Amino acid sequence: NLDVVKSKVVTVCPYCGAGCKINLCVENGKIVRAEGANGVTNQGELCLKGYFGWDFLNDTKLLTPRLNEPMIRREKGGKFEVVSWDEAISYTAQRLKEIKQKYGAKSIMHTGSSRGTGNETNYVMQKFARAVTGNNNVDCCARVCHGPSVAGLQQTLGNGAMSNSITDIENSKCLLVFGYNCADSHPIVARRVIKAKEKGAKIIVCDPRKIETARIADQHLQMNNGTNMALVNAFAHVLIEENLYDKNYVANFTEGFEEYRQIVADYSPEAVEKLVGVPAEDIRQAMRTYAAAPSATIMWGMGVTQFGQAVDVVKGLSGLALLTGNLGRPDVGVGPVRGQNNVQGACDMGVLPNEFPGYQSVTNPEIRAKFAKAWGINADDMDPNVGYRITEVPHLALEGKVKAYYIMGEDPLQTEADLGLVRKGFDALEFVVVQDIFMTKTAEQADVILPATSWGEHGGIFSCADRGFQRFGKAIEPKGNVKRDWEIISLLATEMGYPMHYNSNEEIWDELRELCPLYYGATYEKIGEMGHVQWPCPTLDHPGTPYLYKDNHFDTPTGKGQLFATAWRAPAEIPDEEFPLVLCTVREVGHYSCRSMTGNCAALQTLADEPGFVQMHPEDAQRMGICDQQILWVESRRGKVISRCNYNERINKGAVYMTYQWWIGACNELTQDNLDPVSKTPETKYCAVRVEPI
Ligand code: SF4
Repeated sequence: NLDVVKSKVVTVCPYCGAGCKINLCVENGKIVRAEGANGVTNQGELCLKGYFGWDFLNDTKLLTPRLNEPMIRREKGGKFEVVSWDEAISYTAQRLKEIKQKYGAKSIMHTGSSRGTGNETNYVMQKFARAVTGNNNVDCCARVCHGPSVAGLQQTLGNGAMSNSITDIENSKCLLVFGYNCADSHPIVARRVIKAKEKGAKIIVCDPRKIETARIADQHLQMNNGTNMALVNAFAHVLIEENLYDKNYVANFTEGFEEYRQIVADYSPEAVEKLVGVPAEDIRQAMRTYAAAPSATIMWGMGVTQFGQAVDVVKGLSGLALLTGNLGRPDVGVGPVRGQNNVQGACDMGVLPNEFPGYQSVTNPEIRAKFAKAWGINADDMDPNVGYRITEVPHLALEGKVKAYYIMGEDPLQTEADLGLVRKGFDALEFVVVQDIFMTKTAEQADVILPATSWGEHGGIFSCADRGFQRFGKAIEPKGNVKRDWEIISLLATEMGYPMHYNSNEEIWDELRELCPLYYGATYEKIGEMGHVQWPCPTLDHPGTPYLYKDNHFDTPTGKGQLFATAWRAPAEIPDEEFPLVLCTVREVGHYSCRSMTGNCAALQTLADEPGFVQMHPEDAQRMGICDQQILWVESRRGKVISRCNYNERINKGAVYMTYQWWIGACNELTQDNLDPVSKTPETKYCAVRVEPI
């Protein structure tokens, strides 16, 4: 048909940190197909979310309504009223100014977004918080996922990111996969793990479940839930006791060995095998394999980070790499593989309460002066203190310290731990602004809704999990009365008395580059031409950095890797007679985050269209008289939800598993907000529950 106008737009998948490149095929303004493009990570392959995660962009009959007009709710509990953009912006600015005047700048909280909005928008949002509101209260969902990886790795190695590239995984000779179900979290990364196996790599999996990767592993240490720190300390114990560590490397490139050695001395495999649930000899064998490999990589996911002791475990895992010299060269290293597609980018852009873009500390007066000068504000007006984290907001709202919440592309009323607590916190807020693409659970509670363009309707830059900047393209025109996220923030800033005007993404990116030595050389053109530029990229002729810590120089204050060990602490809520099972939250391969995007894609919805199951080991279930597929109550000390039993022999006895994407059977009604003391990440991988037939 000659009348059909066709185009093919290269973009980057919005569904995980693997950063796969996609060709979106467009006909007459509608997307008709997605094809794998030749990205560095995916080399033409995609997983099902990449292939089928776009049709919400075409469809107007969605399960969750798309937001397509600005709306105001003038009274709590009242109805939303569609208004013009002028009115929405002026009303929002007025309310925020009043709250700032009445309660002070600290009373306003902001989020950036780790989703499809892009790095430029996150830069503008943190600038809004710091230059317009005047605080560092800006955060993102890294707080509930890989915040501990950022905090832990910054202390041990100097950078809170993957040390090496995703492409290195397949050439590593040993993969230690710890609390990371890559088949469900990052299927294209899982392909690299399979390729490594095909090339002869040894694979060690540490996980309470028999996850997909365990099926091809040389060793699967099916540990007890909540014992990560004990197992990591036992690993370190074996490396030292059996002289498997690299003494020259430790002497020349690390600090803290003596204290570290003393702490892990108490963690012989024999001493912890009962606690961890893994035979001592298996623990020893795992470290013999890891230490003997000419190159070894440690990968982890939320099975490490969503615990109250997560930062310590991250430090412990990086200690194993330091002990064996598995850093500073290709095909080795540490890999916290970031979950949401741009959570690395949100952190890179300073959507963190303690750091400006480029991981520059907000407590450093020289750094504050640099940003103040560039932004045309007085350095003395900048907040010199670390701001609030999103997980602290419910408590701070109940204490009356946070009064207004400007939320962009996040859904805390679905995705945060202990939703009962989060709801109480929201009820205590005076003013909530939600800037999003769907009527999420959080948007339903907003006072103002600012509708934004979606991935597919705008372009920009994402950071994938291995520090790689990639440009993504605009495929279609937006349909509603929506605006780009950074345009909305700029209008609001201007209305609040701080003129902010940008004409393009590139203009924002150039402003950012000038302020961030880590990214200065990563120009828009270079990212376009090379396709994938990994920071640090300090100069215009720099090609980017595929692996960090070359020449074993670490980005710590002394230039040396820091060894830390910490005693194991039990999770906060241990099962007892009343609540005898551990609940662990897990991921659903076909759905993403709060499911607002993937839940509105027909193919993905068809694959998983029922509110999440509760996975139970058949022996546990039968002992309780529960049949497969039976409808149950799942109850914790915080709440009670309906779910359906799913017999699953691949999970460990004594624990049940639920995915977190669903509104009915929402497992975050049950989870608890025991926070890691450093990163403030909640312990969503462990709480006590009971199950009962309805
Ligand atoms: Fe998208 Fe991740 Fe799947 Fe790649 S692996 S297609 S980035 S969801």
